[in-house]
Formats: sequence, C-alpha cells, structure tokens
Amino acid sequence: MEEVKNNGEAAEKQLNFIEEIIENDLASGRCTSVLTRFPPEPNGYLHIGHAKSICLNFGLAKKYGGKTNIRFDDTNPTKEDVEYVDSIKEDVKWLGFEWANEFYASDYFEQLYEWACVLIRKGLAYVDDQTQEEIRAGRGTVSTPGVNSPYRDRSVEENLTLFRQMREGRFKEGEKVLRAKIDMAHPNMLLRDPLMYRINYSHHHRTGNKWCIYPMYDFAHGQCDSIEHITHSICTLEFDVHRPLYDWFIEKLEIYPSHQYEFARLNLTYTVMSKRKLLELVKNGYVMGWDDPRMPTICGIRRRGYTPESIRLFAEKVGVAKRDNTIDLSLLEWCVREDLNRRSNRYMAVLNPVKLVITNWEKGRVEEFEAPLNPAEPDGAKRKIPFAGELYIERDDFMEEPPKKYFRLKPGGEVRLKYTYIVKCEEVIKDSDGNITEIRCTYDPASKPGAGEWRSVKGTIHWVSVADAEKLEVRLIDKLFTEPYMDSIEEGRDYKDYLNPDSMKVVSAYAEPALLKDESGIAVQFERVGYFVKDRDSVPGNPVFNKTAALKDTFKK
Ligand code: ATP
Ligand code: MG
Repeated sequence: MEEVKNNGEAAEKQLNFIEEIIENDLASGRCTSVLTRFPPEPNGYLHIGHAKSICLNFGLAKKYGGKTNIRFDDTNPTKEDVEYVDSIKEDVKWLGFEWANEFYASDYFEQLYEWACVLIRKGLAYVDDQTQEEIRAGRGTVSTPGVNSPYRDRSVEENLTLFRQMREGRFKEGEKVLRAKIDMAHPNMLLRDPLMYRINYSHHHRTGNKWCIYPMYDFAHGQCDSIEHITHSICTLEFDVHRPLYDWFIEKLEIYPSHQYEFARLNLTYTVMSKRKLLELVKNGYVMGWDDPRMPTICGIRRRGYTPESIRLFAEKVGVAKRDNTIDLSLLEWCVREDLNRRSNRYMAVLNPVKLVITNWEKGRVEEFEAPLNPAEPDGAKRKIPFAGELYIERDDFMEEPPKKYFRLKPGGEVRLKYTYIVKCEEVIKDSDGNITEIRCTYDPASKPGAGEWRSVKGTIHWVSVADAEKLEVRLIDKLFTEPYMDSIEEGRDYKDYLNPDSMKVVSAYAEPALLKDESGIAVQFERVGYFVKDRDSVPGNPVFNKTAALKDTFKK
C-alpha cells in the first residue's frame, strides 16, 4: 500500500481538476461562492460509488466555504419509494455531512411545466404522437441522420393545447410525448429532438396522483440545478454527452447558467454496483438484505464495521479522475485499518479454539490481569482479564511438527500467553481420530510481567480463560464475488455465476468477558486476528460479530 500512500499525498498537494475549475471560476467572478448538490434518485440504497460522489460534492463545498444541497431526483414514480429517501438521508448524515437544503425535483414540477410551455411558445418543443418504436427508428444512427417526425411542425397553439391535455390525463401512457425541437441530423444523437416529457400514471411517493406527465432526466436535472443556483453540477463521465443538452435548455430558457462537470465513476474490484443488480441480490435472497455486511451499499459497509472516517479517507485516496478505472478493494480495507488501528479497543478472542491446560496451576485459582484498551494510550482505560488453568488458544498457534522459524507453541517449546505467563508444552492429547483435543503445559510463575526480571521468548499468543469465556457467533466475511473485474466478465455468463460461496462463514468463538461491555460504538480489534463489530442480530446469550477487516493485507498481488 506504500504506493497508494504516496500518490495520495501527492494528490493532496496538487489541486484536482474540479478544484482548478472552481478556483478559476472564483477568480474570474463566474461565481462568488460554491453551491454543489448531491442528486440521488430514490430508487435504491446508496453504495460506495455514491459515497465517493457525496464526499466530492460536500468536500468541495466545504473546502471553498460553500454549501451543498441534497436533491432527490424523483422524476420516475415507477421505481421510487420513500423507504429509499429515508435510507439515503441516513447514509449521508452517517458519512458526516450536512446539507444546506433538502429539495426534490418534484418540488419544481409546476415550474418545469411552465418552462416546457415557454419552449413550445418559442417553437422549440412539440408534442409527438409517434410510438416509442417509431421515435427510435426516426432517430437514425451514429452514421445516418434521423428523419423529422410528421408531427414536428404542429402550431404553437396546437402544441400548447395537446401538452395541457397530456397533463390533464386525456391520453394513455405512450400515446404522446413532448420533444425538444433541435436537429434530427445532429451528430450528437441526444440532440436529435430529445424527449422532454412522457405520460406515466404511477402513483408518485410525494405528489401522489397530481401529475401524470413527468420530465425526463435531461429536462429536469439542469433546470433543477438552475433553480437552486448550483454553481458546479458534478456528475459521472457517462453524462458528458448530455452536457450540450444541459446547456441548450438553460440557454433557450435564459435561466441561471449552472455548469456541469464530469468525473470518473468509482468501480471497485470483487463487487457490483448497479442498483439493478444489488436489488436482485436482495430480492432473490443471495444476501440478507440491503445492509448485508457483504454488500457495497453504505448501510452494508456500515454494518460491516467501516467507519465514516475510513470511507472519507478512501474517497480522498481515490481522488478525482477523468477516465474510468477500477479501484482495488484492498485500498478500502487499508483505509479502515488505518482508522481502526488508531482508535479501536483491543480484546482477545479465539476463533478456532483448542484447549490448553496448565498442569501446575492450582485448581480453582483465578488471577486477574490488566491490559490497556488501546495500546496507543498505555495510560488510558484498561480492561480486566481473568486468567486460570484452563484456556482456549487458537488451533493455528500450535504445531506438532513445526517448520524451522515457527515461534508459536510446539512440543517442548515455550510461548508467552499475552499479558501473562510463559508456558511450556509438555504433552499433547488426541482423540481416536488423531485430532488434538488438549495441549498440556506448565507455567513459569517467575515469568509474570512486572514480577522480577523480564524473560523474553520469541512467541506471544492470545488466549481466553475457559471459565470466563463469552461465546460468540462470528461471521467471517469475505469478498462477495470471486472475480476482480465484474464489469468485464466472460460473455454469456451471469454476474451471479461469480458469487463467492465462502463470502460468509459462521463460526463459534470465545472472547474475554470485557468485550461484551465495550462501549466504544465502533469495531474492536481481536488481538492478532482482525477487526470485528457487534451486529444488530445479537441477542442476550448470543452476541454476533461481523469481521470488518483482517489485520494485514490478505490480498495476493
Ligand atoms: P446506479 O447506476 O448504481 O443505479 P445512478 O447513477 O443511477 O446509480 P443516482 O441516484 O442517479 O444513481 O446517483 C446519484 C449521484 O451519485 C449521481 O450524481 C451519480 O453520478 C453519482 N454516482 C452514482 N454511482 C456512482 C459511482 N459509481 N461513482 C461515483 N459517483 C456515482
Ligand atoms: Mg441515475
């Protein structure tokens, strides 16, 4: 990750291209302050790509002393729902941002309708009776011009009447549309008389049945930006071909000139980000829900134990690119480790236990050790850890026939039990199948930390006292897909073919008792194992923890 760090630092000093534009605009007087917007369509839950856009829009405004609106692009009642509105607001707040205003494209339906009439009056829009297929066919191709609609030359009066009747519900869905009159031979296909309005009788989650005509994205977005006086309307690259249309409407309507700028959308390895696919994963039960800790949704990542700080750091490290690219999932993991390593409380937990019995320990004796919750603050808060003669250790921390440089426990070998004594392996007990069931050790009373001279041994392992252990259900979470580049999978295969069957393994684990009293509210570190966060599925007697990240980069380069 060294490379990433260096690039990140370099990028911090240099302005990204949008910052350059903003600084030029402020210097030239095109604008005197910065107003951005985050414009989600409430048709699904936000994902990490949206988080990038949120951090960018809010981050730029913050940097230049400006503000950011949240605007729900609710122009398609068929797929939208208030459930999504609520989750989007929650996610933006969780990321740590406050919007100046909460707006809805539907707030502007009346104004947009009036502006459509303005264009009709200027002879720049007309009602078309062609079917969807006829309109598509008439549009031509990249290499051949389109043909004018037979309805293109309707009079202003007729167009105004028909458009009003569209609004009044006199026509069926698809019977009529309103189109801008631009140029059916324009090299940019989007300018070949694009649709402005279509008829849709679905119930709208805010305006109910008041409207049965809805503006298309292109006739809504720029106009909404303009109404709010958005200075920098930032969107993803695929909208660059829409920009001439964005500008055309604003110019012809003679309204406040917002400007659109495009940056590369964020893609991440080993996952999919299209809302359609995420919805399918949820609906078909491939995951537990939108907030399944394996999902790239913001609520999923949150449930996974990621912090807002780590997501903001990620957005910063990713930077602002002009060309599409796919970011390695390991960068996201690096960011959460960076944050949690600094802040998280430490506890010991054993995920794959084998019993260690100390044969020279007095029966019934319990000793209590203290350890800092966070090693970065050795004088800070501490937790108490009970120690006794029967312990769980990690199966992997013992090897009967170890390789040369194995410093953990082995027959005849010594190891320190973290924060406590040194033990020596004296005997290994196995069942009839040859599985190790118990490791018998003796402890060295003189090796107690703080009691006399410190004796060092090469290995230190973590442990949990059997009598005081809290049993946990632990979800070992891994990548959702097996393929890094899910956007370029083999032709003829479905993205679901690449679901990782091992994306979530549930195991029983044992933890020191203080873990369940943790009040930090963020993920904790299981020492030597990784970062884990308590899940909302926990019930008294069955605490559930999700694995947030490993301690080290587990990706093979
Ligand atoms: P999807 O294609 O996943 O359904 P969308 O683009 O339709 O997403 P919107 O709700 O319209 O979703 O997006 C809101 C804002 O977030 C837009 O400005 C959009 O450009 C931005 N955005 C969406 N996906 C990404 C991404 N992967 N990276 C960066 N920005 C994104
Ligand atoms: Mg969209």
